[in-house]
Amino acid sequence: MGRGDVAVTADDVAAGLRQLGLGRTSTVLAHTSMRAFGHVDGGAAAVARALVEVCGTVVVPADTWDQTGVPAPPGLERPWNAYWNAATWAELDEAVDRAAVFAPDLPVDREMGAVPEALRRGHPHHRTAHPLKGFVATGERAAEIVGGQTLDRPLAPVEAVGDAGGDVLLVGVGHTANTAIHVAEQHLGRARYFRYAKVGPRAWAELADLPGESHRFDGLEPALWPSTREVRVGRARLRRVGVAEVLAVTRAAIAADPRALLCDDPGCRCAAAWRGAEPRPGA
Ligand SMILES: [Zn+2]
Repeated sequence: MGRGDVAVTADDVAAGLRQLGLGRTSTVLAHTSMRAFGHVDGGAAAVARALVEVCGTVVVPADTWDQTGVPAPPGLERPWNAYWNAATWAELDEAVDRAAVFAPDLPVDREMGAVPEALRRGHPHHRTAHPLKGFVATGERAAEIVGGQTLDRPLAPVEAVGDAGGDVLLVGVGHTANTAIHVAEQHLGRARYFRYAKVGPRAWAELADLPGESHRFDGLEPALWPSTREVRVGRARLRRVGVAEVLAVTRAAIAADPRALLCDDPGCRCAAAWRGAEPRPGA
């Protein structure tokens, strides 16, 4: 704890969520960073508890990509796919041997922060079965939100949160973590990548429509500001914005400029996102 920092409690987090207007009828897709708070008494489990106590339905990203993902096979080219190939079949075999097959008890990738894993371990939940792009949900609408996901519609749970009139909740993170922005990109044909995962003891599969780069997504903050509610808990900003508003604002930004929210670095996945959405010659 740094000098002058006061420990945040689960009650503080719950109070912050209520100040945002959230309650038992709320459905939230929560993206969280523990570090942003400073010190939290009880850690990620306390934040998970506060979310579940206040909101009727809580959905969190639960990717397992770091454990299940493998490179593309040697020589397989997909246009504007922004990914890497194994140099040889032996290299792919080694990667498949090292990777895990998705299972419902596989921990959530650390990149998602500690709260999704705390939610999964500490609360009754429903979980998607996509090998790479996962979601965990608790509460009233959990089954319906998780159930719409298919192998080729990995982001369907985010759309389901929107259909339920739900919100994106950014807890100490920016819009770079806001998956709903990827949904709008994909509605417009952008950032639909093929990726690869281990799916059996010596088996891999190609999976469609995985989203990509998000490092410019905070560029939407000004346009989203009118529909955003914000409070501070400890040092963390908590922001609530409707999924429907995120989708509408993102669609408008991309309609005005197909390269919106993407950088100019030709080496970045951003370039593949807009090139992939361009009409193909002869198409
Ligand atoms: Zn970029």
